Amino acid sequence: MLDRRTPGHEPLWLLEIWRGYARGVAESYPSPPRATPPSPAKSAEMSRVGQRDTAPEVALRSELHRRGYRFRVDRAPVADVRSRADLVFGPARVAVYVDGCFWHRCPEHGTMPKANADFWNEKLTRNQERDAEVDLLLEQRGWKVVRVWEHEQPASAADRVEAAVRAQLA
Ligand SMILES: [Zn+2]
Repeated sequence: MLDRRTPGHEPLWLLEIWRGYARGVAESYPSPPRATPPSPAKSAEMSRVGQRDTAPEVALRSELHRRGYRFRVDRAPVADVRSRADLVFGPARVAVYVDGCFWHRCPEHGTMPKANADFWNEKLTRNQERDAEVDLLLEQRGWKVVRVWEHEQPASAADRVEAAVRAQLA
């Protein structure tokens, strides 16, 4: 009988779990920039991306909890769309994404680094295309997607989420 601790002889189910885990990690954390980030300030901003429980997310969650809403955090709304929403309201079918201003090109704060401009332009454009694709796929499945900018006030963001949840349940 094989020793299960021997490297290279892990049982298949363990490999499957590991692969699933690795996929989850890859989804949560964008691949590190191939190029050096252009400035220390920008670097600090970028380094927050992909982290869970960012301040804007926590503030929005608190506000919605205060209003009596319950939801799941960091979940794929549907099994066949590879995307984890920051908040998922299952029965209402509302998926909320809290988008970082840099990574998702907020019209007020989205900036284009001067160094490695081609790389960043391609990457950020891909993010935007991916956002639009996810929105479309979820909406085709009867979900309402609410995108909140990280710069939004928690109360006004919560108002938009609340309106979406009510409309979906109506
Ligand atoms: Zn912004």
